[in-house]
Amino acid sequence: MKTNEHKDVDKDELITRAMESSGQRLTRQKMEVFHYMQEQGMRHPTAEDVYFGVKRAVPSISLGTVYNCLESLVACKLLNQLTVAGATTHRYEMRSREHHHFRCVACGKILDIQASIPVSKVLPDPHGFEVTEFHIQLSGYCPECREKKNKSSK
Ligand SMILES: [Zn+2]
Ligand SMILES: [Zn+2]
Repeated sequence: MKTNEHKDVDKDELITRAMESSGQRLTRQKMEVFHYMQEQGMRHPTAEDVYFGVKRAVPSISLGTVYNCLESLVACKLLNQLTVAGATTHRYEMRSREHHHFRCVACGKILDIQASIPVSKVLPDPHGFEVTEFHIQLSGYCPECREKKNKSSK
């Protein structure tokens, strides 16, 4: 992750500009939610995870406010909201280059899959379509859970 360090320095400026250009007010709460999300790396926290994480810095924050902050960070394209098949709640992540997800059916972990798959592989005749989102989700057992599963079945 060393290569991203330089970029992280400018992230406060990023949120400031993103809020301005979407006509939103930048609040302390939004800033804290954004900072928390920056620290999550490959994790895909739920709104509740974010709430408990941010509460340490802003004890007065409510879950409702966290939802509102997440919503506006999604609206100004700093975060992605994921709807994961099989999971009951939305997950959030920093918006990054296109990637796909693997969801472990045993532990619920969601892992990023960095693969560039041309849309034409999935949509052989793209004529007439306009693809605005391209996301593939795989499900199964992560390496740790697969090992546990194999051990217990022996
Ligand atoms: Zn697992
Ligand atoms: Zn992801």
